[in-house]
Amino acid sequence: MFDNLSVKLDKAFKNLKGQGRITEINVATTVKEIRRALIDADVNFKVAKDLTDTIKEKALGQDVLIAVSPGQLLTKIVSEELTNLMGGKSEDINLKGDPNVILISGLQGSGKTTFSGKLARHLKAQNRNVLLVACDIYRPAAIDQLKVLGEQIEVDVYAEPENKDALKIAKNALKYAKENNKKTIIVDTAGRLAVDEQMMNEIERLKKELNPAETLFVVDSMTGQDAVNTAKTFNDRLNFDGVVLTKLDGDTRGGAALTIRKVVDKPIKFISAGEKMDALDIFHPDRMANRILG
Ligand code: GDP
Repeated sequence: MFDNLSVKLDKAFKNLKGQGRITEINVATTVKEIRRALIDADVNFKVAKDLTDTIKEKALGQDVLIAVSPGQLLTKIVSEELTNLMGGKSEDINLKGDPNVILISGLQGSGKTTFSGKLARHLKAQNRNVLLVACDIYRPAAIDQLKVLGEQIEVDVYAEPENKDALKIAKNALKYAKENNKKTIIVDTAGRLAVDEQMMNEIERLKKELNPAETLFVVDSMTGQDAVNTAKTFNDRLNFDGVVLTKLDGDTRGGAALTIRKVVDKPIKFISAGEKMDALDIFHPDRMANRILG
């Protein structure tokens, strides 16, 4: 994950090695390299520019301590700024509803169904009585996929394979949840390969009807700037509460993780790095920044 970015940042800092102090010239060169590394990692140009302008300003404004080399100083500043860029601190999902409905949105293939299973497992481990609801009515395999996951993690799955009305399924699921004392309801919805009006209308209506405590947007981190643009489109329509970044185990460049928060102004709440049900982590901006910096 982010291998290229890490290597390039490391190289930028190494060029400062042997320099006795921070000067306008050596900072300018390093900052330029950092900006190029970020843009190569598919970070939005404006975000990369703003970030590196701040880094430069901070570096030049520091009183140089004898004990800290310019390289160490720059590394510290970059770490802090990357952490800020990704939201500063981790943010929990809202589970204060009664019942707690968690609506899962995103494009087809982003990892919604897999994440729904993982989240169910995660919340079940907190002794919550969880119900998974299959509202992906266009992809019959999605219902089976959710049922298989449900069996694996021993969580109930509500599905109506013959029903093609997602709204009705969702309403029936809420009734079932009430009758069966299920307090945490995770609703997996239909995605398309690209944003389309029918999908957006459907998820908007589901949100209105279900009044979820938490609406999450799931996105494949491998898609870089596309991920950011899709997040923006979904957020404009859904005003979601948080982002789930998937497939961080792949050859992802880092752009989505670094840019989404700034562009969409919604926190990344979970990251997933693998297909297995235990491959789910709460997102910690500082840990991610440290990983990027190696
Ligand atoms: P959906 O269409 O949004 O419901 O997406 P799925 O949950 O069906 O996931 C699409 C594919 O991505 C499946 O083959 C999943 O196993 C895979 N997948 C989901 N999350 C991850 C992840 O974090 N890492 C990897 N490598 N694969 C994932």
